[in-house]
Amino acid sequence: MHFDDLMCCRYHNGPYDANNWRVPLLAVGWLEHPHDYVRGETPPGLVDKLDELVAAAHESQRSYNFRGLHRCSHCDAANVDSGSLERSHVNLFVPGQGVVYIAPSGIRHYIHVHSYLPPSTFVEAVMRCTDYGSPAYFDSLRTVNNGDRPPIESAEDRRAYWQARKEAMQAEWLRAGFKVGSRSRQ
Ligand SMILES: [Zn+2]
Repeated sequence: MHFDDLMCCRYHNGPYDANNWRVPLLAVGWLEHPHDYVRGETPPGLVDKLDELVAAAHESQRSYNFRGLHRCSHCDAANVDSGSLERSHVNLFVPGQGVVYIAPSGIRHYIHVHSYLPPSTFVEAVMRCTDYGSPAYFDSLRTVNNGDRPPIESAEDRRAYWQARKEAMQAEWLRAGFKVGSRSRQ
């Protein structure tokens, strides 16, 4: 899939669709052969920082990750077998200044192997992004999103959802005459 850097992302529904955010959702690092891209040297620590964010996103936003793994079309075009890109089903939502960036985890490969240079505003946002997937991270997404709830579920949301489901189920059991927490019938 290809987007020019800083293009509005419109893909799928939910958090990948710019229409569901109050601020622009800007694509970064969606490289595909034969589209050209900017090359250059990235600041030290950027790839390590991206590694850290991808590992956290892999854990914290399972329901928003893509299903399949992605191959690098630049490697394919050069007849280099790089296999499937590691964790390429994971995508990063990075809060910026008045925008949210959406980047594929393959961006690490593009920087490392293909000398890709992402926009500096994105690099700054990545270096500032802490505790990806934490309540503080979701708060910063909400702040950037003009104070509105972002279209991506937080860990707290998911816990609240399951707690509500559990309580509804227990109420259901009580109505049906079962003792909650016990297998015996009243
Ligand atoms: Zn490649």
